[in-house]
Amino acid sequence: MISLEHVNKFFGEHHVLKDVSLNVNEGEKIVIIGPSGSGKSTLIRCINRLEKVSDGHIFVDGIDITEPKAPVQEVRQKVAMVFQNFNLYAHKTIIQNLTLAPIKVKGVSKEEATKTGMEYLERVGLADKAHAYPSQLSGGQQQRVAIARALNMHPEIILFDEPTSALDPEMIQEVLDVMIDLSKQNITMICVTHEMGFARQVADQVIFMDDGQIIETGTPEHFFTNTQNERAKEFLSKII
Ligand code: ATP
Ligand code: MG
Repeated sequence: MISLEHVNKFFGEHHVLKDVSLNVNEGEKIVIIGPSGSGKSTLIRCINRLEKVSDGHIFVDGIDITEPKAPVQEVRQKVAMVFQNFNLYAHKTIIQNLTLAPIKVKGVSKEEATKTGMEYLERVGLADKAHAYPSQLSGGQQQRVAIARALNMHPEIILFDEPTSALDPEMIQEVLDVMIDLSKQNITMICVTHEMGFARQVADQVIFMDDGQIIETGTPEHFFTNTQNERAKEFLSKII
């Protein structure tokens, strides 16, 4: 489903992804952990071409998205992303936030986009907020809207970049619950998150990154019980 082959990424002189290779199968749930600045965001931003790689290849559903002529719009329809800071459109209502991209990018009718949008709002427990504006919602509610908005594009892959790290502690679980619910579907998920309880519950693979490299890959259980890598051990001791 997703395959990274010897990906390198430079920002100027700064080498931020160093020969990263990774395979993610359809329906797999991946959690990426690692210290600040290790390249986690850059890695997932390369997967939907928010960033261009400097060298190497990334295949999404068989399409090499690093090719200059890659059909970026087609790829973006398959790959949705949820950010740390929600990134909702402040001047649109919640339901308009959900319907905008399906109508504009996918050419879905307004009726259809609204119908499925309301179903996703229902699913994240926010149907009653359809006509509210983002500023009228709590952080946790805004993030649940952001997830519903991503789902309303019917993506095959959903990328999460620290979706709960901007939230007050009491709101974290409500967002994780939506993600756990989503993980029961056959959707491919790649989540940058340090919520190890979540990782334990849903992750097929946990990937530990440090200094632009994938240092260790394993099941959540492996990371909890027999990580050999000193850097991974030290990092885990700080977040668990
Ligand atoms: P965090 O946990 O703090 O979110 P991260 O693992 O997501 O960190 P990245 O945001 O991927 O790390 O950043 C990796 C490195 O690339 C950092 O040193 C960062 O300063 C640098 N970097 C990221 N984006 C840019 C950019 N647009 N221009 C220049 N340097 C960048
Ligand atoms: Mg980041």
